Amino acid sequence: MQNVEKYIEECEHKLDKRFKEIDKVAYYNQVKVAEAFAQHRIAARHFNGTTGYGYGDDGRDTLGKVFATAFRTEAGIVSPHLLSGTHTLSVALFGLLRPGDTLLCISGMPYDTIRGVIYGEGNGSLKDYGVNFSCVDLKKDAFDRDKIAEEIKKGVKVVYIQRSRGYELRDAFSCGQIGEICSFVRQCGFEGCIFVDNCYGEFVETKEPCEVGADIIAGSLIKNPGGGLAQTGGYICGKEKYIDMIGKRLTAPSIGLEVGSFALGYQYYYQGFFAAPHTVAQALKCSLLIGTALDGLGYKNYPSADKTPYDITRAIEFNDEQKMVNFIREVQYASPVDSFVACEAWDMPGYDDKIIMAAGTFVSGASIELSADGPVKPPYIAYFQGGLSYEHGRYALSKILNNL
Ligand SMILES: *Cc1c(COP(=O)(O)O)cnc(C)c1O
Repeated sequence: MQNVEKYIEECEHKLDKRFKEIDKVAYYNQVKVAEAFAQHRIAARHFNGTTGYGYGDDGRDTLGKVFATAFRTEAGIVSPHLLSGTHTLSVALFGLLRPGDTLLCISGMPYDTIRGVIYGEGNGSLKDYGVNFSCVDLKKDAFDRDKIAEEIKKGVKVVYIQRSRGYELRDAFSCGQIGEICSFVRQCGFEGCIFVDNCYGEFVETKEPCEVGADIIAGSLIKNPGGGLAQTGGYICGKEKYIDMIGKRLTAPSIGLEVGSFALGYQYYYQGFFAAPHTVAQALKCSLLIGTALDGLGYKNYPSADKTPYDITRAIEFNDEQKMVNFIREVQYASPVDSFVACEAWDMPGYDDKIIMAAGTFVSGASIELSADGPVKPPYIAYFQGGLSYEHGRYALSKILNNL
C-alpha cells in the first residue's frame, strides 16, 4: 500500500465516535473496579503470598470477593491454580454436574477444547462420569427458542452459554441477548444453573452476564480480566451455593475453599484486574482499527466494521492460505517478544486442525496481548485479539498494510 499512514488516519477518523463510546464503557467499568477495591479495603498485605495449606490466606479470599463485587455476583474464586480457560471451565462444570445430570449448551457447539471436557471418549470427560450432553445449534446466529424449550422439558441441570465466538464465525452475544435468553430459559421452568463461558467478554460492556440473569460466569486471566499483568489463572464468579460446589472440586470435597497458597503473592492479580477496564478498551480499539482498515481493502471481517463489538476478538476471512499466514506472521513480527520468528502451523493440544498462532507476548500465550491465530483450513480465517496499547495495534496494522 502506498500511503499507509494516511489510510490509517482515515480509518481512525471513521472510528472517532465508536472510540468515544469505548472510553465511556471503560470509565464505567473502572468505577466498578475501583469501588470494589475500596469496599474490600484493599491494602498492601493482600498482595502477600502464603505457603503450604494457605489457611486464612486473606489475599486469595479477598481477591475472589473483589472480582465478585465488580461482576455483581455473590461470591468468586480467583486462582493461579486454575491453569487456563479450559481448566477453569472444566473445574466449574465438574463442580456443578453429577452422574445422570444433563448439560445443555444453547449457543451451538462449545469452544473446541471444551468438547473434550464434555464428551471425550475415555479421557475422564463428563461423559465418562455419566453426565449427558445435548446441544442446540444457533438458528441464523440467534438462539433457537423452540428447540431450547423442548430440551429443557427433558430435564436439564446446567444451561451453558458461550458469550464469545470461539473459532466460529458468529458474533459474540451481547449481555442484552444473554439477558433475554436467560429470562426465556426461566420461563420454560428451568430451575438449575445458567452458566456463561465469559472468555473475552469481560468489561466489553457496562454489564456482565450475572447482572442479566446468569448464575455463574467463568473465564481466563490471560485474557481480559488479567489486564495483561496476571501471569496465569482463571476466575469463576456467581451464586454462592454454586461457587461452594465448584470450590469443592477445585480443591477437595472435604475442604473446599479453605486451602490454597501461592508463594509469589497476588499483586499482579489485583493490579491486572484494576487495569483491565482500560486494557480491554485498548484491545477493542485495536480490533476496530484493524477491522475497519481490512474491511476497506475488501477483507470481510466479523463483527462487521459498523457493528458494536461484544467481545475483543475479530475474525478476518482471507479465503487464501498464504494471505492468512502472512497476516499472522506480520502480527508476530510486530510483537515485542520473538519478533524475528516466522510462525508455522502446528498440532496444538485440544484442537482437531492445525493451528497457526502469533503470540509474541510477555505472558506466554496471553491473548489480551496482541495476538492472532486460527485453524489452517478454508475459508482461512484468522482470529485477531488484544493489544495492551492502542499504539501497539496501530503499529502492527501499519506493518500488515505495508506487507499484505
Ligand atoms: C479462550 C477461550 C476458552 C479457553 O481457552 P484456554 O486457551 O484454555 O484459556 C474457552 N472459551 C472461549 C470462548 C475462549 O475464547
